[in-house]
Amino acid sequence: MERVGFLLDMDGVLYRGNEVIPGAEGFLRELRERSIPYLFLTNNSQRTQRDVVHKLAKLGIPAREEEVFTCAMATARFLAHQQPGGTAYVIGESGLVNALHGEGFTIADDEVDYVVVGEGRTLTFEMVEKGTRLVDKGARLIATNMDTTCPTEAGIRPGCGAIVSMIERATQRGAFSVGKPSPVMMRAARTQLGLRTDETIMVGDTMYTDILGGVQMGYRTVLVLSGHTTRSAADLFAFRPDLICESLAEIPREFFLTERAA
Ligand SMILES: [Mg+2]
Repeated sequence: MERVGFLLDMDGVLYRGNEVIPGAEGFLRELRERSIPYLFLTNNSQRTQRDVVHKLAKLGIPAREEEVFTCAMATARFLAHQQPGGTAYVIGESGLVNALHGEGFTIADDEVDYVVVGEGRTLTFEMVEKGTRLVDKGARLIATNMDTTCPTEAGIRPGCGAIVSMIERATQRGAFSVGKPSPVMMRAARTQLGLRTDETIMVGDTMYTDILGGVQMGYRTVLVLSGHTTRSAADLFAFRPDLICESLAEIPREFFLTERAA
């Protein structure tokens, strides 16, 4: 039997703001009933796995912590591999700090190995100044992701990519980014599900993260139009997804069930 599994972006795929996208819960239920593995893949580094499960529960979507993989977790695992027991100055929130602690990192604000930047609403100019000076003195600059904006109910706000660019410009040093579309996160997610490349399907609403990441890895890709990308905006990109659907619920079952044993 051919196996398949899904990497599912969250914002714009499962929900939009505080509203569930119709059909999302039913689609997940079907995956569970058919024992098709899936992992929620988010470029939001603010929340821990538990926080994400709580948010989903409030929306009526049951989830378990181990079904959540954030760019903060991907970043922490990557850094623990690069430099076990390292130190970091963090510009970000609990999701990122927890993930780094969980991987054996120490958070400090002097003589650190890394400056790690995520998104959040607690940013101050002093934090940017501190991060800039540490990078200038030799700390390596890491971004959880390069999304320039985050969607909110009221409109966009600056994302991690916008925050990290202040330090990049000031120090003339480029950040290394771990979140989608980086192969570091895309591959780690597939490995966690125990899938091969040709068994993996990435579903997302953003071309330059979800779909680009999937295309680069050789995964099958589905762009859903339930988020902030329109069909005409998607057409402007030089790469394209395998499939474009209105929402998760509209993905034709034959797209992922045909070759499975009946
Ligand atoms: Mg999204």
